[in-house]
Amino acid sequence: MLFPPACVHCKAPNVWLCQNCKSGIFFITSIVCPRCGTPASSPACTQCSTNRLHYIDGIRSAAVFEDNPMRSAVHHLKYQGRKVLASSLAEMLAETYRYYNLNADVIIPVPLHRTRLKERGYNQSTLLAKKLGRLVGLPVDTTTLYRTRDTGQQMALKAQQRRHNVAGAFACRGHLSGLKFLLVDDVCTTGSTLDACAMSLKMNGADAVWGLTLAKAT
Ligand SMILES: [Zn+2]
Ligand SMILES: [Zn+2]
Repeated sequence: MLFPPACVHCKAPNVWLCQNCKSGIFFITSIVCPRCGTPASSPACTQCSTNRLHYIDGIRSAAVFEDNPMRSAVHHLKYQGRKVLASSLAEMLAETYRYYNLNADVIIPVPLHRTRLKERGYNQSTLLAKKLGRLVGLPVDTTTLYRTRDTGQQMALKAQQRRHNVAGAFACRGHLSGLKFLLVDDVCTTGSTLDACAMSLKMNGADAVWGLTLAKAT
């Protein structure tokens, strides 16, 4: 706390995300692809036609990632140690959760590999999931799903490589029948990570698995 807070996007003083930037976030309120949640401009989703999702029942995101204060907020939460941003960002997740009536039984944050967790000191998705759980009154499970190997940075990879990279990277403990899960992550790009998590949960008996993220990158 050596420096006083400043908005992560416009540097306005005394707040981490100012009201002006918050209201500048482009929330997704248009019709979306039922599967991947991309704002739909035509009936056939181009994202799903090039990168099919097989296990996740659907993904919904609060906002678009590009040219948006959301991008700055996610970046600071993830890489600049601004854990304090999790509260206001989780409120956006809660709004999106209610907007789409997602109705889950349990929230699960997308796990980090233990080496990554050691490096960063925290999992930003766990922070978001815990705040979200409190806001919508759902339990948060951080032990059932885990990463079996470090998949590195997905950002630089193409859709096909992403899918290949995360396939089989997750595993679960326990039997999960009768439960509807909500996976929480910061950004969804191709949905491959969420789909790989959903595969593992469903192989262990999960009834349904949905994904909720702050931002949808295209
Ligand atoms: Zn600002
Ligand atoms: Zn789609």
